[in-house]
Amino acid sequence: MPYDPSNVFARILRREIPTPWLHEDDLCVAFRDIAPQAPLHLLVIPKRPLARLAEATANDDALLGHLLRTGKALAARLGHPDARFVVNDGAGAGQTVFQLHVHVLAGRGLAWPPG
Ligand code: 5GP
Repeated sequence: MPYDPSNVFARILRREIPTPWLHEDDLCVAFRDIAPQAPLHLLVIPKRPLARLAEATANDDALLGHLLRTGKALAARLGHPDARFVVNDGAGAGQTVFQLHVHVLAGRGLAWPPG
C-alpha cells in the first residue's frame, strides 16, 4: 500500500494539526492519543514515512527499538513504571491510521488477552 501523506499523523508531524508533543528527537515524536483508552495513552511515531510494521525492513531495526525505548522512558517519566506497548499492524488488527505508531497504555489494570 503506498504511503498516504494526508494521514492524520503525517499532518500532526507537519504541524498542520496542532497537537502538543511530549517528546521529539531526530527519529520520532510522541503525543497523547485523542481518545485515550487508559489514564496514560501515548502514541510514539517515527518521523519517517512508514505506513505499518509490515513495511519495516532490517534498516528499521534501530528505529523500532528506539520507538519502544522512547515510549518506555516517557511513560516512566510520567509516573507509570508499568505500561503496555501495542502496535496494530493492518486493518484486520485494528490499525486505522497508516503511519506506524506504538501505543503506550498505563494507569489502570489491563486485561489479557486483549479484546
Ligand atoms: P490505530 O487504531 O491505528 O492503532 O490507532 C490510531 C489511534 O490514533 C487511535 O487510538 C486514535 O484515537 C488516535 N487518533 C486518531 N486521530 C487522532 C488525532 O487527530 N490526534 C491524536 N492525538 N490521536 C488521534
